[in-house]
Amino acid sequence: MTKTAGELLVTPMTEQRSEIAQLGEFGLIDRISREFNLRNKSSIKGIGDDTAVIDAGEDYVLLSTDMLLEGIHFDLAYTPLQHVGYKAVAANVSDVAAMNGKPEQIIVGLGLSNRFSVEAVETLYQGIRAACENYRVDLVGGDTTSSASGLVLSICIVGRAKKEKVTYRSGAKANDIICVTGDLGAAFMGLQVLEREKQVFLSNPEMQPDLEKYQYLVGRQLKPDARMDIIYELDEMELVPTSMIDISDGLASEVLHLSRQGHLGVKLFEDKIPLDNLTYDTALEFNLDPIVTALNGGEDYELLFTIRPTDFEKIKKHPDIHFIGHTQADESQNIMISKQGTVVPIKAQGWDHFKGSGKR
Ligand code: ADP
Ligand code: MG
Repeated sequence: MTKTAGELLVTPMTEQRSEIAQLGEFGLIDRISREFNLRNKSSIKGIGDDTAVIDAGEDYVLLSTDMLLEGIHFDLAYTPLQHVGYKAVAANVSDVAAMNGKPEQIIVGLGLSNRFSVEAVETLYQGIRAACENYRVDLVGGDTTSSASGLVLSICIVGRAKKEKVTYRSGAKANDIICVTGDLGAAFMGLQVLEREKQVFLSNPEMQPDLEKYQYLVGRQLKPDARMDIIYELDEMELVPTSMIDISDGLASEVLHLSRQGHLGVKLFEDKIPLDNLTYDTALEFNLDPIVTALNGGEDYELLFTIRPTDFEKIKKHPDIHFIGHTQADESQNIMISKQGTVVPIKAQGWDHFKGSGKR
């Protein structure tokens, strides 16, 4: 019997059915990327880095997209709409920063269910506008559609970098110094606080949320900032990192990307990993090991990069860049030296949307 176009589209090529959860997000992406080769000379870097890299003549153009789904990436019970807009732009800018580039344009795809009013959309765009002003980005287009299940926000970003300055996830050499900006784990703890207060509110709507004490953490969760300031500073110092990635899935997962793509091992020192005091105390309050919030939390949007040892002098006094370890030639050795001096293997437990790990 001849199949209709619709049937052809949904029929898998074989009878076999594999669960996405078994492959995980990265396994799935690997599998997709195996089926595609780059055919245009201008496609310099395809799948596998924070952005694609496209030859645009004098410069490289950087291209990336990121999607936020209501109920998966944000909960409107405690996330103001303007923050959703701001965060979606910041997450995209962060990927351009991770390539050592500067963002220029965004295009916004919007899916709306009929719960959302014109005023709600305006509020969302207030956040998008604030981020556009902050990062000096132009909103140049988009697409709007109705959605069956809540709000969908998908942003595509275009950035630019001088060819010799683009920084890939690969590129580190053995004995490069591993650097991280800011502090880690705060956004993850902010999410735990917000979730807890939501549960308290649901069981007793009379209760007012007690967020004052956790302001820094909640702010890091709801209004993260991409570290473009660091990119401008590295530019001024004439320092090009040997490799770079932004921390959206947790330090462990990201450092393993640098290791895998650079064919190197990494050695981190627990006591060098930057944690804010409030992150530390709040993790203990939640019965969590504070270092786990940095290693396996997510959405920090800080930068993780490697530098040649000879460049250390240039940034060693920077107040917001921390030197947490170094790369090593043995690819199989990805380890952290704990505060007690024991050797702990680094394992990724980043945010895996398909494994139902309890994180988003
Ligand atoms: P990031 O955390 O920096 O946004 P991701 O982990 O989302 O990066 O993606 C890793 C790489 O896989 C990127 O190069 C991205 O463009 C690519 N990628 C992700 N999803 C898909 C997909 N569905 N099809 C093709 N490429 C994808
Ligand atoms: Mg990234």
